[in-house]
Amino acid sequence: MTLLTSLTRMWLTRSFRPFTFKSEFDQELPYQNCKHLGLYVHIPFCKQICNFCPYCKTLYDKGLSDRYIDALICEIHLVGQQMAGNKKAVTSLYFGGGTPALIAPRIKEIVAALEEYFIITEGIDLELHPENVTVPTLCQLKDAGITKISIGIQSFQDKYQRILGRQTISPADLSETLNQIKFTTVSMDFIFALPKQTFDDLKADIDLAFSHGANHIAVYPFIDFTFTNSDVPVMDKKTKRQLLDDLTDYCLGQGYERDSIWTFGLPQTAGYSSMTRDNFLGFGCSAATLLRDQFKINTFSVEAYCERLATGQLPTSLTLRFTPRQRMIYYLFWTAYSTAIDAIDFADFFGESLDDMYGLELWLAQRFGFIVEKDGVFRMTKKGAFYYHYYENFYTLAYIDKMWGILRKEAFPDQIIL
Ligand code: SF4
Repeated sequence: MTLLTSLTRMWLTRSFRPFTFKSEFDQELPYQNCKHLGLYVHIPFCKQICNFCPYCKTLYDKGLSDRYIDALICEIHLVGQQMAGNKKAVTSLYFGGGTPALIAPRIKEIVAALEEYFIITEGIDLELHPENVTVPTLCQLKDAGITKISIGIQSFQDKYQRILGRQTISPADLSETLNQIKFTTVSMDFIFALPKQTFDDLKADIDLAFSHGANHIAVYPFIDFTFTNSDVPVMDKKTKRQLLDDLTDYCLGQGYERDSIWTFGLPQTAGYSSMTRDNFLGFGCSAATLLRDQFKINTFSVEAYCERLATGQLPTSLTLRFTPRQRMIYYLFWTAYSTAIDAIDFADFFGESLDDMYGLELWLAQRFGFIVEKDGVFRMTKKGAFYYHYYENFYTLAYIDKMWGILRKEAFPDQIIL
């Protein structure tokens, strides 16, 4: 698996040079001229820890969370003050976690700090646990400017809730609450490829979501990270492919539009995704920042995060300085997640023609039936979407699993080579 991802990396970057993340960072981040910049804020607190969850989180404690938010606001000011009075237009702001809705009363304060430096043009997204879907919490979020919400359902069915260590969810209660406070996008997240999960199980979840307040869904594959406590067995490739194909056909047949590999929405629905931004600034522990020439990731330790910011320094744990080809591959990988790559956008971003850089690979991908091209836009076929999904699983286990596994143990490691 690691060999496959390493060989692919060498081929596509035309280099033996690995991705080397070093323990160094820029105190001033070069984001001022970045186009299509998004913002991400990480809130690492949860009321309970789910056994399958790989994200950076810790049990909620009011004192710790207040200290963390104070530090988070310091980080926003440190980064934002670099704009020297000029506000920068950004696409969206995304609150992920953890369970950001646990700090609903302070979301407005965080948004206000960001709006001192940034003009948010495409709305504010926030993730919720189903327990957070209450009228008072949704009112607080709406008042803070949140326009899109995503509810981590995972599955409506008791048998899977039990496997995942979750409580039963009442779709009727959710729907009643969602009817009272409206958001532009209400997305519901599910997990597929759970043990013995059938298409009928998934179809039932999708139907319940769209009939109970969602206008968008995300159906993510179950990934068995090595550092989680999950004992859920992994589904075989053939069954997984059949499930993904069936759920894709079903959603498209229902008239839902696919806006990324695993997400579908009602037509005209504002999309919901944290993964497809050309550049982004991340705030909070474990948050990543992706810019024209670098990728950096903050420390995973809440304590170390607060301590570093108390010294007036950014809480960066590691920085990767891209070679031009490494940046292109990173761009293509995450743009492909939206199921389409536009040659004009690529040329605009890199000042190089996509055909000159990756003409052979695109030709091969068309020959294998992974993509089709029309007017300079390369769209993924159903087969291509499955293989993207399949490769993404390798990438996650070879790169993200290794990096997050180390960062969970060490606040500031010397370096990580991937
Ligand atoms: S799945 Fe959600 S609620 Fe559960 S531990 Fe992860 S972030 Fe927290």
